[in-house]
Amino acid sequence: MIDAVYGADLQSAREELVACGVRLLGKGILTQTSGNLSIRLSPEVIAITPTSIEYDKMKPDDIVVCSLDGTVLEGAKAPSSETPLHAAVYQHRDDISAIVHTHSGHATTLAILGMPIPAVHYIIASLNTTTVPVAAYATYGTPELAASVRDTFQAPCMAVLIANHGMVAGGRTLKQAADGAETTEILASYYYRGLAVGQPNVLTADQMGEVFAKYQRKPADASTVY
Ligand SMILES: [Zn+2]
Repeated sequence: MIDAVYGADLQSAREELVACGVRLLGKGILTQTSGNLSIRLSPEVIAITPTSIEYDKMKPDDIVVCSLDGTVLEGAKAPSSETPLHAAVYQHRDDISAIVHTHSGHATTLAILGMPIPAVHYIIASLNTTTVPVAAYATYGTPELAASVRDTFQAPCMAVLIANHGMVAGGRTLKQAADGAETTEILASYYYRGLAVGQPNVLTADQMGEVFAKYQRKPADASTVY
């Protein structure tokens, strides 16, 4: 039924999720079965990676289609245990149509320390923020964790750390979300290394203002936004 409604879009979303998982696995942003990826197919329907399948063994048919209340609409596998987190973000953010959640090393290390990432490098502007905040800890897969991420992940910021857990990045497309996850991990690695040697300098509001002005002169992204 969903295939009839979304047609080629659903199949391409399935293939894109699998390919993106393999790509992020290769970059060390994802590991084994930790983390999960999703794409919003319509305002109330998402395609999400299944639970407990390694990314390099995942097939397009393993991707699960769910409504935002968690009802499985299509797919033989169980959806990611963090489906409530993805759904909460989609319900809260109409500027986000794809999500990447990972436990990547440096971002998770800062999350364990409860340390937001400040503007230690100008590329933080690509996340539409000058600080990547930290959402409070709650047990994985729970509505409490979903609510914590939802409450901390405020527009227009495109990434958030989760205390003692990992990070979440959003985007208008899966590529943007994946790029955001990679940027967050890179920023975390710079900040971590800086802290290991001394006291990192943080860019001022004026310095970041100039960066945002340059970013805004780039051509706007033409991707569909639900
Ligand atoms: Zn997780």
